[in-house]
Amino acid sequence: MTTSQTMLTPAQAQQLVLDHVRPLGLERVPLLDALDRILGVDVHASYDNPPHDNSAMDGYAVRYEDIAAATPEQPAVLEMIEDIPAGKIGVKTVEKGQASRIMTGAPVPAGIDTVIRVEDTRADGNRIEILDPDELGASIRLRGEDMKEGELLIPAGTELGPGEVGVLASVQRTFVPVFRRPVITILSTGDELVEIEEPLEPGKIVNSNTAGLAAMALAHGAVPVMLPTAPDDKAAIRRTVESSLTGDFVVCSGGVSVGEYDFVKTVLDEMGAETILWRVAMKPGKPLFFCKVQGTPFFGLPGNPVSSLVSFLQFVRPAIRKASGHRSDNLLLPTARARMENAVSNDGDRRTYLRARLRFEDGCLHADTAYREQSSHILTSMLGANGIVIVEAEQEVKPGDEVPVQIIGRVF
Ligand code: AMP
Ligand code: MG
Repeated sequence: MTTSQTMLTPAQAQQLVLDHVRPLGLERVPLLDALDRILGVDVHASYDNPPHDNSAMDGYAVRYEDIAAATPEQPAVLEMIEDIPAGKIGVKTVEKGQASRIMTGAPVPAGIDTVIRVEDTRADGNRIEILDPDELGASIRLRGEDMKEGELLIPAGTELGPGEVGVLASVQRTFVPVFRRPVITILSTGDELVEIEEPLEPGKIVNSNTAGLAAMALAHGAVPVMLPTAPDDKAAIRRTVESSLTGDFVVCSGGVSVGEYDFVKTVLDEMGAETILWRVAMKPGKPLFFCKVQGTPFFGLPGNPVSSLVSFLQFVRPAIRKASGHRSDNLLLPTARARMENAVSNDGDRRTYLRARLRFEDGCLHADTAYREQSSHILTSMLGANGIVIVEAEQEVKPGDEVPVQIIGRVF
């Protein structure tokens, strides 16, 4: 019998999976379609921004030496020589005793070193009174303060959020090279399964894994293709597996354990698959199988609904992220520490992954794992689960103890 000593640790299994996945190629998509995608190339600034020194205020462009001594009682008096709205370039050089009226964003004219905001001035036709000198250089935004031509703005491997899309727009990228999303074919096996639209006959259960795993794939940046369920029959499993090899990965649930009808591994062996790992010391999820069949990475996940979803998050998600171009330090689930609200104990010899509801209170993350039964067939324990609390073998956790938690959904 395989003991936890001879089983792989989850970290070893993750590494083996990642060693067998390569980033996919790039595709060019319209700017807005690049949201949530992974940038495929380094993007540099194509010009200095702002392109010219410009005014940060509506006001008057002046020579500081002319106004340095101004007070409300003894204002500096200047002659306004030009009006510079945003989008126009002033043509006149401001000489001693002169000022140009300028709007926010307009390039500052030659000769000036300071802008005085309109609130600190009084105007009477072209006669301008400056009531407060502010300071030398006030209210001028310098050329290149935001970005310098040639500067690396967004490195390849960055996930593009709205801020990145805005910056890409500012450097006039109408199309953006991003990593292709991996196509994942998803299949379930088992004589007991009926599809979600079929009548539930005695002795049968509804196939929830295909849809659940497809939703996982979508949620983590892949394109799912759901295949028809294969019965527990070698020839049928082989036909389904052969038809699944059109994707970048295959995710199969069920049939990889040690039961009489668990044929998936046998079929893959017969197809000449290279086995990379089988069995991981974790609960749920021990009977994990990963191989390459005709060059395609193939995940055999346990059939229990919770096991399949938890295994997906631990092993398939990192593979999706590597294939879709995420940087190597950003492939695994983010982890934090949370304060337990209930007691848990793990008297087994495998690390357990408990579905948790996380919430912030007083700036602290709190985890509840007692809202539902934790067994691997309790699919409803996934409802509202935005975290996975990790409890090591033979560990006792009391309410108030801090535990490591993987973040799997929104916490806000
Ligand atoms: P297996 O890994 O095939 O031995 O299945 C383990 C358990 O998970 C059994 O109770 C199955 O009925 C259940 N199961 C397997 N596949 C699915 C599925 N696609 N949807 C829901 N439950 C499943
Ligand atoms: Mg089965």
